[in-house]
Amino acid sequence: MLIVKKFGGSSVADKERIMNVARRCIEDYNKGHDVVVVLSAMGKTTDRLLEMAADINPDAKKREIDMLLATGEQTSVALMAMAMGSMGVSAISLNAFQVVMHTTSEYSNAKFKRIDTERIRHELDSRKIVIVTGFQGINKYDDLTTLGRGGSDTTAVALAAALHADACEIYTDVEGVYTADPRVVPNAKKMKEITYDEMLELATLGAKVLHNRSVEMAKKYGVQLVVRSSLTEAEGTVVKEVVKMEQMLISGVAADRNTARIAVIGLKDEPGIAFKVFNLMAAHKISVDVILQSIGRDGTKDISFTVAKTDMKDALAVLEENKDRITAQRIESDDKVAKVSVVGAGMQTNTGVASGMFEALYNVGVNIRMISTSDIRITVLIDEEDVDKATRAVHDKFIPD
Ligand code: ASP
Ligand code: MG
Repeated sequence: MLIVKKFGGSSVADKERIMNVARRCIEDYNKGHDVVVVLSAMGKTTDRLLEMAADINPDAKKREIDMLLATGEQTSVALMAMAMGSMGVSAISLNAFQVVMHTTSEYSNAKFKRIDTERIRHELDSRKIVIVTGFQGINKYDDLTTLGRGGSDTTAVALAAALHADACEIYTDVEGVYTADPRVVPNAKKMKEITYDEMLELATLGAKVLHNRSVEMAKKYGVQLVVRSSLTEAEGTVVKEVVKMEQMLISGVAADRNTARIAVIGLKDEPGIAFKVFNLMAAHKISVDVILQSIGRDGTKDISFTVAKTDMKDALAVLEENKDRITAQRIESDDKVAKVSVVGAGMQTNTGVASGMFEALYNVGVNIRMISTSDIRITVLIDEEDVDKATRAVHDKFIPD
């Protein structure tokens, strides 16, 4: 078997954890498997590097930031190869340049285009454990790029797809994917299985356990994932196309505090206005989520939408600059909001979910400001201070003890 094993930053945070990971990988190697290991930077290294950069130059070029961040993963893979060496196993570390993991040129948010497999295959054939840097790639200028925060998961899935791996295991510091954040909802349960689509919604909504692009890629290439803990032997959660088990109505509840609401007020009620507003956002690479347009009155209308909190400043600046062109009288914003979502493939065939969710929120006195839905998700925008209470209420409503 060829197994890709990915370990996040907390799993390689110090010497003891590195040795622990080395031992777990060697166990598989000793069974005769081919083992490819993908690592993130140790502990909070990436945050620390970003702070160092901001301290020296808050407007540093993204190219240089990527050059800097890529060192984090390089440290982990080299130390891991040394750890395995100290245990008498031959291992080799490779960075994105050595594998050649080709990406698009966009620094800090690059996407994989193609991965060369010759070097890895060659090292596996000579019975080495191959340890590859997560989160990074090489663009057409031969510059290092990074995939966006949390991107090592995507490296693991991309490698598993390129190498036609038999298993792709994502190791983290929790035992799998939970029905809600266990720190907020103490009776949250670990799921045995979840579909790609549900996982994708949860990952996009801020359940931090998997990078959303890794789930997209796993679905596209049919890579079955297992999310499990590097610290225990617990079984973990399988992410795959269809879940055979009896389908729960709701698989999980997610909360996302990284959201802000923008309202563009007094727009002319005529064709093309929404296009102008959202085209501006798209042109500045600001992704927009929940959208609400008011009914036109006296020839004007309002459009409200949410953006990531981290994009709010940029969004407001762009809108103010183009206020006349989009015919806005006023622009308002509020970053004390949060999203709570229920996700479940079961809601496609059950009509009671929306009303159940709204009832649960009503019972704990939470006011809903905006609503958006998809096939398998209902999201409400609420006040940030209500988010934990709302998450617990909605979880208790749908996921019995
Ligand atoms: N080290 C990177 C980060 O902290 C990538 C990862 O952990 O997946 O975002
Ligand atoms: Mg991660």
